[in-house]
Amino acid sequence: MKETKVNTSLFCVHCKEETAHTIVYLNKRMSSIECDCCGRRIDIKIDISQEIYDEVLERIISKPVRMTEEYRDHLKEFLLSLPKRIVSKPYRVYREAKEIKGYFKKYSVRKKE
Ligand SMILES: [Zn+2]
Repeated sequence: MKETKVNTSLFCVHCKEETAHTIVYLNKRMSSIECDCCGRRIDIKIDISQEIYDEVLERIISKPVRMTEEYRDHLKEFLLSLPKRIVSKPYRVYREAKEIKGYFKKYSVRKKE
């Protein structure tokens, strides 16, 4: 899961002119656009559960060929063996879980607005 900020020039309806804007992306989805001049911000609703699902799916698909073949041949066994493989990288998983939790909090709060 990754949050990326992009700076660009856009027309702001509040400033009534083209101003510098900051666009925030969560993975490949746009999550907010903010005018750097007046601070007018548009939040775009993101389904965080869907984002996590897509990311996990993407990771499974992008694994090396050997793993993909294994996946095709023994789907059930492969899925059962996944947690063990993930646990073998405890620090990375811990860091990612913490990061995802943070995003979850941020985007869940936004959903209720
Ligand atoms: Zn503005």
